[in-house]
Amino acid sequence: MGDMVICGFCGRTFPRRRAIITYKGFVASDPFLKTVIGKDKITIGLSRKVYVCPKCARFYGIRGRRAED
Ligand SMILES: [Zn+2]
Repeated sequence: MGDMVICGFCGRTFPRRRAIITYKGFVASDPFLKTVIGKDKITIGLSRKVYVCPKCARFYGIRGRRAED
């Protein structure tokens, strides 16, 4: 079983051991954010740790480190 985390991109709940850890802290502009947040541009001042599910990691080309515990 193990911990479940929420994907920072799609909001899906999935097992933490499958998570990819990345840090958000950039100016992003893409249609996906527009859908989720209601803005087509968002500035995130501080980087914060987010978990990304394998599907989103692949889709967005996110390279991060795997959460292996
Ligand atoms: Zn996801």
